[in-house]
Amino acid sequence: MKSETVTILGATGSVGTSTLDVIGHNPGSYRVTALTANRNTLRLAEQCAHFNAELAVIADPALENELYSALKALGSDAAVMSGEAGLVAAAGLPEVDIVMAAIVGAAGLKSTLRAAETGKKVLLANKESLVIAGEFFAKTAHRNGARILPVDSEHNAIFQALPAGFEQDLEQAGVERIILTASGGPFLDMPAEQLSQVTPAQACKHPNWDMGRKISVDSATLMNKGLEVIEARWLFNAAPDQLEVLIHPQSIVHSMVAYRDGSVLAQLGTPDMRTPIAHALAWPRRIESGVDRLNLAQESDLSFRQPDLERFPCLGLGFEAMQVGESAPVMLNAANEVAVQAFLEERITFNAIPSLVGEVMQNLEVSGINDLDDVLMHDKAARTRAMELVKQIS
Ligand code: NDP
Repeated sequence: MKSETVTILGATGSVGTSTLDVIGHNPGSYRVTALTANRNTLRLAEQCAHFNAELAVIADPALENELYSALKALGSDAAVMSGEAGLVAAAGLPEVDIVMAAIVGAAGLKSTLRAAETGKKVLLANKESLVIAGEFFAKTAHRNGARILPVDSEHNAIFQALPAGFEQDLEQAGVERIILTASGGPFLDMPAEQLSQVTPAQACKHPNWDMGRKISVDSATLMNKGLEVIEARWLFNAAPDQLEVLIHPQSIVHSMVAYRDGSVLAQLGTPDMRTPIAHALAWPRRIESGVDRLNLAQESDLSFRQPDLERFPCLGLGFEAMQVGESAPVMLNAANEVAVQAFLEERITFNAIPSLVGEVMQNLEVSGINDLDDVLMHDKAARTRAMELVKQIS
């Protein structure tokens, strides 16, 4: 079988590195064409040299020469590009079949959209793109024949539990509800009064998953699950009231689909992103992922409970933004990105994250999204307001 060509946007991150690991487990099946990073020139150069990539893109234009030298030093003759134009070019290369969208945050929007515009098989990890531009993104993909395959473990699980050939019609598929599971993060059982004291290091130490810093904080606040319900809405064309969240601290059941006849189908596996990555990469085939196999006899307990929206208000804010629609998810996401960054820089407390996001959402007016410019305008307004609030409280 002919090998498929791959671009990885955000190659140096947690998902990007796991994707390269899965590719490494399947020699001859995939050819790495382009890899991108934000500032980590050294790791990017090492990856390009190891996988013989043809194009290396660094988002920060000031680092183009540094990347060029690092590549040369490692014997790679990959071409070098930089800036957003470089990311967009890597996503749309005509010879590329598959694009892994694994940049963190709204910064990934334009390149991920480019992959959809050019009809690629898009492996979607960058949930923020879908949260802020869901309808626009789905229509662009449909119009250009792009196939969006969810990489987020929950959405990948849902995709696997839906009937083969599912075409965006839950009613026809007999689906009543989609149940996203959430680990609950490192502070699941911490009393409310202690949450204001937690440090970025504690928030980034997830009990089950090894992830980038931003998503780790989102998991600790449960904003990650708020973003994921919005992501699920667009991926599966679900009505807001069809989406539920259940806390499942062991992260073995990755999500579930409840059908009209009372059946509930779930996907299980060890908490390792290489499973959903391998599934999306090879779909509709199955390939080796390198993960430890699940041994259910050794899992003494699989438990489920309702989320506590009082201690974790970010999840409620996510549901609210989904219900309100229009520009509300853009505001939610932008304010959250600013708040998480400020928390990671120790400028605000953990509890200030939901307060700040809630305040931005209350203060800014919601309006319709017609195009990408509308998304960017609302994103900017919410970021500006959130930064003002950070300044006031830090
Ligand atoms: P990381 O922080 O580990 O990696 C982010 C990647 O994006 C890095 O390659 C980074 O480059 C690059 N990057 C960061 N900022 C920019 C920017 N402004 N412009 C261009 N590139 C940028 O993140 P994760 O891998 O954890 O997450 C990536 C995405 O996948 C997120 O949307 C996350 O929500 C989603 N996801 C992650 C999961 C996980 O297990 N990690 C699970 C499910 C979803 P550099 O290294 O140079 O900083």
